[in-house]
Amino acid sequence: MTEYLLKILIVGDGNVGKSSFVHRYVNGQFSKNYKMTVGVDFSVKLLKWSEKEKVRLQLWDIAGQERFISMTRIYYKGALGCIVMFDVTSSSSFLNCPHWKNDLDNKAMLPNGNSIPCILLANKCDLAQRAVSAENIDKFSKANGFATWMETSVKENKNIEEAMRRLVKEILLV
Ligand code: GDP
Repeated sequence: MTEYLLKILIVGDGNVGKSSFVHRYVNGQFSKNYKMTVGVDFSVKLLKWSEKEKVRLQLWDIAGQERFISMTRIYYKGALGCIVMFDVTSSSSFLNCPHWKNDLDNKAMLPNGNSIPCILLANKCDLAQRAVSAENIDKFSKANGFATWMETSVKENKNIEEAMRRLVKEILLV
């Protein structure tokens, strides 16, 4: 059995659902009041990838990092993949995605100088008040080098496993 260790970052504006996503994926739960403790580095999930391969995922949530400038370097170091998340009901969280992607492309590079594989997640798709159209998301995703984009609902457990498998696939193919 081969085991891969993959460090994955989750970035995006506050309140889009990053901590809930990690909590859901790692612990299988959605809880309204859950908030990852600031200063805790990452959560771990072991994923059976194939008959012969396991993947140990280290999920780093940026929660609170903005206030800890010195942690930023540690946060990006050695990352092999990334999720940029926004909230479909918040146009400002979508408009900030270029900032997150650029920051990532500047700070997290593979040893060969390429940017790390990245997927874009449009979270809270269970809510009716959409502020961003699928057409705009698709355009943005293609123009900014994302491997793909997906709608997710951490609340309704929609596309969480799928998104992670998609990202891992992208990383292992690189
Ligand atoms: P973070 O600041 O990006 O880590 O966001 P949180 O994980 O703290 O989530 C912010 C708020 O959005 C919380 O009240 C969550 O319960 C809620 N939330 C997260 N994901 C979803 C979702 O898919 N649908 C809905 N309706 N609410 C969500």
